[in-house]
Amino acid sequence: MQIELRRFFENDDIKQDFDYEFTCDDKLFSEPVHVKGFVKNSTGIVSLTAEADFTISAQCAKCAKNICKNMSIPVSHLLVSKLNDEDNDDFILVENMLLDLDGLVMEDIYLSLPLRFLCKEDCKGLCPYCGKDLNDGECGCKKPVDPRLAALSQLLSEDE
Ligand SMILES: [Zn+2]
Ligand SMILES: [Zn+2]
Repeated sequence: MQIELRRFFENDDIKQDFDYEFTCDDKLFSEPVHVKGFVKNSTGIVSLTAEADFTISAQCAKCAKNICKNMSIPVSHLLVSKLNDEDNDDFILVENMLLDLDGLVMEDIYLSLPLRFLCKEDCKGLCPYCGKDLNDGECGCKKPVDPRLAALSQLLSEDE
């Protein structure tokens, strides 16, 4: 959704609510992203206050189980039509008086995501040797010698 901001910059005490959904191309988001909030001008300060709800579909980084996780983040920014001298990350510079709300929400969502997803905090992962899901119990398989070490010792013995 795009929001035309001119009237917010030109009028005091104006507020517009929004409540909508948009779909994201990224496969990580299986469901539409739901955004609810408002833009307002209060005593000359234009601000955006919203909440984004979305569903993450990913695989556990340790056991590869499919995860479906509902998340919610606040999206809150001050909007300015021009920047003063200094750079300030607190402000979003809106060019052409048009706010690309979907883009801004996605930026905030990506910043909030963890580097990897786990099915649960203490996921034990898979046994690297037999592939058993260790969350279901120990596998009891014999851990073989590291194949790189085995190859190295073979090389060394061939030299002799
Ligand atoms: Zn897991
Ligand atoms: Zn095993």
